[in-house]
Amino acid sequence: MAEQVTIDNITKQFDETVAVDTVSLTVEPGETIGLVGPSGCGKTTTLRTVAGFETPNAGRVLFDGEEVTHVPPEQRNVGLVFQSYALFNNMTVQENVEFGLKMRDMPKEQRSERAAELLTLLDIGEMGNRDPTTLSGGQQQRVGLARALAIEPRVLLLDEPMTGLDAKLKTRLQQEIGSLLDEIDVTSLYVTHDQSEAMVMCDRIAVMNDGHIEQVGTPAEIYEAPANNFVADFVGTSNRLDATIRNGTLDLGHATVTAPANAPNGSVTVVARPEAFTLDEGPIEATIEDRFYLGEHVRMTARTPDGHELTLRFDPTHAPESRHVTLSLDPDRVHILRN
Ligand code: ATP
Repeated sequence: MAEQVTIDNITKQFDETVAVDTVSLTVEPGETIGLVGPSGCGKTTTLRTVAGFETPNAGRVLFDGEEVTHVPPEQRNVGLVFQSYALFNNMTVQENVEFGLKMRDMPKEQRSERAAELLTLLDIGEMGNRDPTTLSGGQQQRVGLARALAIEPRVLLLDEPMTGLDAKLKTRLQQEIGSLLDEIDVTSLYVTHDQSEAMVMCDRIAVMNDGHIEQVGTPAEIYEAPANNFVADFVGTSNRLDATIRNGTLDLGHATVTAPANAPNGSVTVVARPEAFTLDEGPIEATIEDRFYLGEHVRMTARTPDGHELTLRFDPTHAPESRHVTLSLDPDRVHILRN
């Protein structure tokens, strides 16, 4: 049975640097939470504290209500997958996967069976006798995951496991490993600086900034209802516009559009994703300054008459040809942040 992981008011300081600042987060049994945020925001330190490689200055780590804050890493029964695959090159793939089981004195036959099962599950069933150095990056990463899962960990910790893989393989592995994490009953924390990877792989995402958590939510919540400017900027592309709401209308300065339902009057910041703008005879005038053809869509940079830059996104078959456009803003697709 998967366990609940609770990070309770953890602070970790290195000399002058507060790497993690009173962070609390509960990962429910079987859930995968992605820790995302810019470089240096404290993701890895949080993960290492759960693994037991760091002892926090304050706060507690609990597995299913049992405090493990001071339990050494080797006694926590956590599975670890890192960016450098960290496979043992003097052992075969099969021996790598069996390693943790051997350490736990599992009989040979039983551990071979379990390793073979995991390798098959990860679609590398025929590679057990290979030397890890003869495998591709993606295959090595699967071996790393099989090895971490072999010990039936209380919690699985993954730190940037897709780093160094080419874009196409990364997309495939994200989907495959994402589904695998859904299927198997293990609680996971997944560190990545890549927010789209977290969206594919994780049930919920915790956005970190400067040692603390800015927002925890499902990928859709984080994208559609960012809690603040930091999250709106970090996750996806957003247009942020200062506006005033008056009785159901949203005054953007250069244009007035319909406000989202029930938005209270006052001065606000509007977060509008590129796809919230539609090309029609709407009230927002803009001049297209740049266009980038990206296959699935066309991204455009446009400027309003009062100098605001907008990022727009259109289906290639509907992308405007002209330099001047008039746009509508879908009130159901905007998110309001109160100033
Ligand atoms: P990245 O995405 O670049 O890996 P991160 O979000 O994982 O970054 P951490 O590695 O947790 O960030 O680091 C958080 C802060 O703590 C950084 O300022 C880092 O320099 C500092 N830090 C981390 N480990 C140590 C250490 N052992 N000694 C001193 N400072 C450290």
